[in-house]
Amino acid sequence: MKIQKILNFNFVSATNQEFDSVLVKRLEDRQNTFVVTANPEIVMYARSHPEFAKLISKSTYLTPDGIGIIYAGKQLKTPLNERITGYDTFLYLLQVAQEKHLKVLFYGAKPEVIAALEQKIKTEYPNIQIAGAFDGYLSDSTPVIECIKNTQPELVFVALGSPKQEEFIDQNLTLTTAIWLGIGGSFDAFTGKVKRAPKIIQKINLEWLYRLVTNPRRFKRYLAIPRFMRVVKQAKRDAAPK
Ligand code: UDP
Repeated sequence: MKIQKILNFNFVSATNQEFDSVLVKRLEDRQNTFVVTANPEIVMYARSHPEFAKLISKSTYLTPDGIGIIYAGKQLKTPLNERITGYDTFLYLLQVAQEKHLKVLFYGAKPEVIAALEQKIKTEYPNIQIAGAFDGYLSDSTPVIECIKNTQPELVFVALGSPKQEEFIDQNLTLTTAIWLGIGGSFDAFTGKVKRAPKIIQKINLEWLYRLVTNPRRFKRYLAIPRFMRVVKQAKRDAAPK
């Protein structure tokens, strides 16, 4: 897998198809795999939280989830192939799980979302063995940990938002051999609680704007983007021959 260093983080540079095949191969070879899907906000958080930076640099793969990361790759002359989002990877792995009758654990989102997700999996992906489905507002995660130990799922989807989901995965990674994927609001999108931007908007790289307009409460989080852009510009200047 081709890797490009961007602001000291090792990003996967691949097509979605290539990345998906690598994950399937790792599933077949029973290799434990931790995938972090990062946007500028996560990179900025990691830059000011060294423990978190260490944690994501220990992941098996760090993928460019946000268009801002692709932009940074271009600016810094370490271009990345394309966005590899948590949501698309999640949908692909569900399909694989359906074909291969995999055991899957779902953890995160509100109780009504996780209930709707379980229902949708049962009807649309009947071959998936649901190892467990837990909402993300439990007072402690012991029941989830016990379930992982007892059922040994092959896929673990954690949708608690960042950095909680990556911290949970990091702490529990040795409990089962699986693909562990932190996927933010993907359960909400999957169950229709929030809508993803139409394909055309995704194509013209304005999904972030769509999400901001449809959910203005996210505004504060977007402040990370101009800060990220400034860091990229500075890194570009630093790299330029004097
Ligand atoms: N969430 C959760 N437990 C928490 C906080 C958040 O399960 O303690 C869920 C929340 O319901 C949502 C998901 O985490 O489904 C991610 O939320 P957000 O939109 O902040 O994440 P993003 O996709 O932007 O990373």
